[in-house]
Amino acid sequence: MTVTDAATGPTATTGRPWASEALRRADPQLADLLAAEAERRAETIQLLAGENLTSPAVLAALSGPLIDKYAEGYPGRRHHTGCALADAAELLAIDRARELFAAPHANVQPRSVTSAMLAVYAALLRPGDGVLAMSLEHGGHLSCGSRANFSGRWFEFTGYGVREDDGLIDLDQVRDLARLHRPKAIVAGSISHPRHPDWAAFREIADEVDAYLVASAAQTTGLIAAGLAPSPVPYADVTVAASHKLLRGPRGGLLLCTAELAERIDRAVFPFSQGGAAMNEVAGKAVALMEASKPAYRAYAQRAVSGARALAEGLAAAGTRPLTGGTDTHLVAVDVSPLGVSGAEAERRCAAAGLLLGKCALPYDPAPPAEASGIRLGTGTVTSQGMGEAELTEIAGLVARALAGGAPAPVAARVRELALAFADRA
Ligand SMILES: *Cc1c(COP(=O)(O)O)cnc(C)c1O
Repeated sequence: MTVTDAATGPTATTGRPWASEALRRADPQLADLLAAEAERRAETIQLLAGENLTSPAVLAALSGPLIDKYAEGYPGRRHHTGCALADAAELLAIDRARELFAAPHANVQPRSVTSAMLAVYAALLRPGDGVLAMSLEHGGHLSCGSRANFSGRWFEFTGYGVREDDGLIDLDQVRDLARLHRPKAIVAGSISHPRHPDWAAFREIADEVDAYLVASAAQTTGLIAAGLAPSPVPYADVTVAASHKLLRGPRGGLLLCTAELAERIDRAVFPFSQGGAAMNEVAGKAVALMEASKPAYRAYAQRAVSGARALAEGLAAAGTRPLTGGTDTHLVAVDVSPLGVSGAEAERRCAAAGLLLGKCALPYDPAPPAEASGIRLGTGTVTSQGMGEAELTEIAGLVARALAGGAPAPVAARVRELALAFADRA
């Protein structure tokens, strides 16, 4: 499989380190699994919102020699020796992140977005402090107060939501809840809401109650990098970003913050919540941040958004109800209940046809969470493969046909054909 290079467009195959003879000889069982996974990926249309294809250059950096380097601490302040080149790689990543997002300070070490959130709370709060964040039922991530997550266990969360009529964030409710609960931090951002938060309004509310403003911007990091979404960085005390997802880098978190909080954020990542950083991931982040600064990446991100609009329009024409009436991002969430299926059933029917998307609980969802009334889709992967509006309009039709049930074979056949047509560009 080849991967579209964000900086240069579709490229020829750049090698498959995982398909090397060394792995096949040492562990044929795992080599077979990986080969089958590559085949599964080539034959299906991948619409899970958080997934993407890492660029060839990022993949190369990930398998480079820094994979073996222990480098606890930060450039110039390591607990291990032999770190001069690891320092240089991390400084590249830091400088590129600061420049790309116009941020006074960047920490590129968090292993995931969730661990980045842990570091933010550790830097700003004490156990038991209050936090106001989007409620999980309306699109907040687990790290915004789930009882199954450290956040809900260690802090007192209050949830705000969206209005029932237009599906948009109710800023009056946010302000009222902030005045009532006086939280120490307010978190803005969501995993499924398809519109951009009004960062300035959130800043104003945070200032009024003397709270920190945390931007949870993992889902739209790539759009912010490309200048296609309003940046939270000038408004938020800390912005939590993702290097995977739309940015096409390695799986991981990025933290951007004010100069004032730099030291506290760094200490909250290491040594408070992590040991040595994965230096190959740091190197991969450096590459992804460089690629995201190029005009070709901006064009990619624009195609992801216009593709998502085409998908939302196609799904609306098929009788589903897009949340907020459409999207500003690469994400689309739609209510499938008008078609008489649950979100869980929709996910199953689509998966059976080779269309991979996720069930999604909607705000005010009358269905139990395990069933849900919605599905959520993203255009990151298919856009990396070179698909555009025409393909996404067709995919909306294929999703609608899969949801209708009936004869699934022709839908599955067309999905496979379309997937394979773009797989060797993928
Ligand atoms: C994806 C996402 C997360 C979780 O990311 P992980 O790296 O899997 O921990 C958290 N919050 C938001 C807003 C996200 O979009």
